[in-house]
Amino acid sequence: MKITFFTLITAAVLCTAACTNAIQSKLGNTELATSNNETVEPNLDGAGKKEATAAEILNKKEVPVLCYHQIRDWKVSDSKRAHDDIMPPAKFAEHMKMLADSGYHTILPDQLHDYLNYGTALPEKPIMITFDDTDLDQYTVGAKELKKNGFRGVFFIMTVSIGRPRYMNKAQIKELSDDGHVIASHTWNHKNFAQFTDEDWEVQIDKPSRTLEAITGKKVEYFAYPYGVFKASGLAKLKEHGIKAAFILSTKRDESYPMYTIRRIIDPGTYTARNLYNSINKSFK
Ligand SMILES: [Zn+2]
Repeated sequence: MKITFFTLITAAVLCTAACTNAIQSKLGNTELATSNNETVEPNLDGAGKKEATAAEILNKKEVPVLCYHQIRDWKVSDSKRAHDDIMPPAKFAEHMKMLADSGYHTILPDQLHDYLNYGTALPEKPIMITFDDTDLDQYTVGAKELKKNGFRGVFFIMTVSIGRPRYMNKAQIKELSDDGHVIASHTWNHKNFAQFTDEDWEVQIDKPSRTLEAITGKKVEYFAYPYGVFKASGLAKLKEHGIKAAFILSTKRDESYPMYTIRRIIDPGTYTARNLYNSINKSFK
């Protein structure tokens, strides 16, 4: 008789002490049934695959994730602080080339999720490149430079801005998706997740996902918190709303929900390629 892992777990949970011995004999004394009749229940996903615990995820080597905003030349009117989020195109090109020359391979959120959750192998020197806020230059400059280096990226779209001047339109977002980049959610209008009301789950999460799914024809399963800010009490709910993993900035991951607090670092417009290289190695352990 073929006994699946899932059957055994179910049986072990339902079983009284009287049948523990029978299960143990079928298992051949594995770690599933302990000497004092307690069972260790793994997390199983919808398909019955074992999912990693929070502790296991936190113990894995972190994959570097970079975050970009605007990719354009600096203007006199820009504040010094704004230069963190404004990457001149020539510099962006140089940084992408440095990553390629250093042997980095870009991965996408499904790969990162499966690595963290199931231990699925990743290419050598994996890195993820992400863009927030829907800026048009991410399409005109960002995607072009990614392509030159054989990279793919993730675009976290704030849906209110789609089609506005200086932002991407539907056709451009669809083209990125068709080219193998991932389109993900960054809320409707950049509302701080920590301030979500009950209605915001529909306005800021469900509706933007539907909007993006209608554009790309693909599921939206990843989310980036505006300002990188989250509240722990909202993390469990993201899963109920179809989100498989979510991204913060360089602050500490949540100990119970590391899949919903994946760290990213900003590559500031003030950095040299060497600064970026060092920052990647320092920030992701
Ligand atoms: Zn943002």
